[in-house]
Amino acid sequence: MIISGKELALSLKRRLAEEVGTFEERYGRVPHLAVILVGDDAGSVSYVTGKAKASAEVGIRNTTLRRPATISEEELLALIAELNADDEVDGILVQLPLPKHIDTDKVIAAVDVSKDVDGFHPLNVAALWQKQPCTLPCTPKGIIKMLKAAGVEIAGKRAVVIGRSNIVGLPVAKLLLDENATVTVAHSRTRNLAEVTSQAEILVVAIGRPRFVTADMVAEGAVVIDVGVNRDPESGKLCGDVDFAAIEPKASVITPVPGGVGPMTICCLMENTVECFLRRMHGRER
Ligand code: NAP
Repeated sequence: MIISGKELALSLKRRLAEEVGTFEERYGRVPHLAVILVGDDAGSVSYVTGKAKASAEVGIRNTTLRRPATISEEELLALIAELNADDEVDGILVQLPLPKHIDTDKVIAAVDVSKDVDGFHPLNVAALWQKQPCTLPCTPKGIIKMLKAAGVEIAGKRAVVIGRSNIVGLPVAKLLLDENATVTVAHSRTRNLAEVTSQAEILVVAIGRPRFVTADMVAEGAVVIDVGVNRDPESGKLCGDVDFAAIEPKASVITPVPGGVGPMTICCLMENTVECFLRRMHGRER
């Protein structure tokens, strides 16, 4: 089965749009997401455009603030402080990566935790690892939603995550653990990677290398989630970390690239923005 993240995201966004449609009357306004884009990296511009488009679909107000790559760290922190203090802003997202002269960790920590729609703030990360209520990072949250929508039973399964980044690998491993999978996290120093991945009943791949995972690394009937977004070095087209054509016949469930994890990530960003808005309106969890 190929899970269409695109279709799932569409139906979730439709549901969110219905909910958001009632907010003007109930709260006097709709959620407001502020996105900061520093510089003009083509990938970042396209992600920010996708976020603005999804906001429009759901009925969320989106303000994209573009700043030159030469912006100083101080100026960026001042902009964040301004948005933190703005009562009409519910979510703040700083598009990554940032230019090298800016300390990304400092910027992430500067966002008011109640407006941290990315779920990257250290307090949100701590809350995730302590199983406290928090804003979940969008990509891992979307992956769990996809698995559930596909009817994949997670509890008791052997799950292998390749990649240990703060934004994908580690949090998705934690969420799978919370769903009672037995989780292994593999990375660039893992020995006999194919042996490890062949054990996986659920394999999540978040490396950033085109078609790195080949059919011999995957068990018959495995569930394969491909997080990678790469340019095929030959065709220049988007492709994942998984050799989709070779693995699709073997896998019981697989996600395509594009149209898999990516649209779910944006959809979860919309959901997180609504959650931050509602918490601000009610001082409560949804
Ligand atoms: P990252 O920070 O670069 O982390 C990559 C991870 O892969 C690292 O933990 C690294 O191991 C591991 N790795 C690299 N080469 C490896 C190898 N040969 N064997 C085993 N492990 C290896 O990347 P990321 O931010 O997690 O993103 C990963 C991919 O997902 C990228 O393609 C990115 O564009 C994509 N992505 C997609 C979405 C989406 O919504 N679809 C969202 C976020 C990211 P070490 O820790 O040992 O270096």
